[in-house]
Amino acid sequence: MTASSIWHPFTQHGLGEPIPLVTGAKGAVLTTADGREVIDGISSWWVTTHGHGHPRIVQAIAEQAQRLDQIIFAGWTHEPAEEVARGLREIMPPSLTRVFFSDSGSTSVEVALKMALGYWLNRDSTRHRIVVMEHSYHGDTIGAMSVGARGAFNRAYEPLLFDVATIPFPSAGNEQAPLDALEAACRQGAAALIVEPLILGAGGMLIYSAWVLAEMARICAQYDVLFIADEVMTAWGRTGTLLACEQAGVVPDILCLSKGLTGGSVPLAVTMASEAIWDAHFSRDRSRTFFHSSSYTANPIACAAAAANLAIWREEPVLERVARLAEEQRRRIDLLASVPGVHNARSLGTIAACEIGDGEGAYLSDLGPRLLAYFRERDLLLRPLGNTVYVMPPYCIEQAQLERVYSAIDQAAAVFGGQNEV
Ligand SMILES: *Cc1c(COP(=O)(O)O)cnc(C)c1O
Repeated sequence: MTASSIWHPFTQHGLGEPIPLVTGAKGAVLTTADGREVIDGISSWWVTTHGHGHPRIVQAIAEQAQRLDQIIFAGWTHEPAEEVARGLREIMPPSLTRVFFSDSGSTSVEVALKMALGYWLNRDSTRHRIVVMEHSYHGDTIGAMSVGARGAFNRAYEPLLFDVATIPFPSAGNEQAPLDALEAACRQGAAALIVEPLILGAGGMLIYSAWVLAEMARICAQYDVLFIADEVMTAWGRTGTLLACEQAGVVPDILCLSKGLTGGSVPLAVTMASEAIWDAHFSRDRSRTFFHSSSYTANPIACAAAAANLAIWREEPVLERVARLAEEQRRRIDLLASVPGVHNARSLGTIAACEIGDGEGAYLSDLGPRLLAYFRERDLLLRPLGNTVYVMPPYCIEQAQLERVYSAIDQAAAVFGGQNEV
């Protein structure tokens, strides 16, 4: 391979790990320049829902590229964006009446935080404190990092990150302390709570109970604190339902969506907001404008892909596929639970995870890169979070492909399971 000048994300180039050249993808399989067929066990970083190259999405992108490639979105609109907004209104909670476009999960979070602060300022309140959950991840821009877990990932930027109120993670049996901490922060007049509903992704696939989420939403409502659901990873069927919030019967004031919004084909995000958030900005006074945009806001090609995704959700049995995969994931991870070296085997919807070696997940565990290499040698795209191995495949993955994924994890547990290197 020739030397490349590319600086890859979340990659320590000094470790010299090989960087395969990918030339194609279809369904749950990636093809590489050296002719390998790799199973995509993590949906290409949690984005691919239906599978790579869904024909309807591919066609929508091609047609839209010919018709209208890009148009400024401040003061202009176009049919693909209108179609996405209408489609979202049909399937998302009815109280989320407004749709604001951006380009990534991180920006959808920035937008959510800015909407929350604008809401309070425009109501002549000084509320600005954001409440967050321990181990959360909301993206890598400065604001998104501020509301996410602090650690090795953002130590250098710490001086730039704003203060938040952090509540403990509500692990099973330890739910009361987080709820009390939330109530205390709310009582002191927080502006908003931002959470990943039911499962913290980058924090290590940590699952908590739906009743805790419901209780958190109730406390927020009681103290008028805005409830922001970051469903960037959890939406679009990942946890078994269209939104994870559904399982707790809660409806957020602000909802962040990205990753599966286009089926995982091209970047796009939306932040949906309640009428109250919109009303706080709606005025003849230009100073109350929501001051946020990016050059490619609601890019028509990306919106066409999202519209095709919404049509797939309307017309194909997506939730049935999700239910089948969820069942398979549960069955297979339950089998792994009894394998020596495997700890905390767990699943939620289409996501399954466990720790290998050490019972505690640790992102900088030496096992991480070794497990990554082990799976790569077996033509599997799995990217453990430290010693936390998780499987989050596209919904179209076949039995035989899942079988390969799980037998490799089983073997990895035998090879690495006795080692406690953290
Ligand atoms: C991935 C993710 C983000 C960030 O999305 P990007 O598109 O990578 O910026 C935010 N929140 C959650 C919960 C995520 O999983």
